[in-house]
Amino acid sequence: TVSVGGLVRRFGPTAALDGVSLEIAEGEFVAVLGPSGSGKSTLLRVLAGLDGSEAGEVRIAGRVMTGVPARERGIGVVFQNYALFRHMTVFENVAFGLRVRPRALRPGRAEVARRVRELLELVQIPELERRYPDQVSGGQRQRVALARALAIEPRLLLLDEPFGALDALVRREVRRWLRGLHDRIGLTTILVTHDQEEAMELADRVAVLERGRVVQFDPPAMLLSAPATPFVAGFVGEVA
Ligand code: ATP
Ligand code: MG
Repeated sequence: TVSVGGLVRRFGPTAALDGVSLEIAEGEFVAVLGPSGSGKSTLLRVLAGLDGSEAGEVRIAGRVMTGVPARERGIGVVFQNYALFRHMTVFENVAFGLRVRPRALRPGRAEVARRVRELLELVQIPELERRYPDQVSGGQRQRVALARALAIEPRLLLLDEPFGALDALVRREVRRWLRGLHDRIGLTTILVTHDQEEAMELADRVAVLERGRVVQFDPPAMLLSAPATPFVAGFVGEVA
C-alpha cells in the first residue's frame, strides 16, 4: 500500500502540491491526470525521494519515507525523457539498474547477466541486448527504460509521461503492452499523464489533479458518469 497524506510542496509563492492525499492499494494501476503545471511530476518526484516536501508524509507498506534516500525506497522510475546511456548497450543499460542498488543487494556478475536476460525477456526484447540505444526504435527504447526500472525489483513503479516521445500508433501499442505487463506482474504502478484517453484506458483508478489538489480519485467510469467538479467533467469530457 502507498499512502500519501497532506503533501505540500511549495516553490516560492506557488504550491505545486497543495495538500495531496491518496491511498493506493497493492497492485493497483493508478493514473495521475491533470493539465500542465498541476503538480503531477512534482508528486512523483516527492514519492521517489528526488524532491522533498514542506508538509505531509508518504508511507510505503506502512513505513514512513521521510528521510529515506531515493535509492533505498525500492521505487522504479521512468521519466518522460527516459534517458538511456547512449554509449552503453541495451544489456549494460539494464545492468545499470542492478548496479545502483545498495551494496548489500548488488548481485555478482553472473547473476547480473541472468537477471538482465530475464528482464529483457519480460519486456519482450531479448534479441536486442547488444544494440545501442540509437539502434533500436522509440517503443523499444521505452521497454529498455522499463526493464532498467524493474531491475531493482521495485515495489512501486512510477512513470512520468513515458509515452510522450512516441508517435500515436506505437504509443497505443506500448500502452496496451504495459497494461498487459502490469496484469502479469501485478506491480503497484502510478502513471502520470495529461492524456485523458491514456489514463482512462490504462488505470484502475484515476487521480485528477488541479493546481496541486486532487479533485477526484475514482475509476475511469466514475469520472465520466459522476465527475466531481465542472473541471473534471470538462477535462475527461475532451475524450470523444
Ligand atoms: P507538465 O504536464 O507540464 O509536466 P506537471 O503537472 O508535471 O506539468 P509540475 O512539474 O509538477 O507540473 O509543476 C507544478 C508547478 O510547480 C508548476 O507551477 C511549476 O512551474 C512549479 N515547479 C515545478 N518544479 C519547480 C522548480 N524546481 N522550481 C520552481 N517551480 C517549480
Ligand atoms: Mg510533468
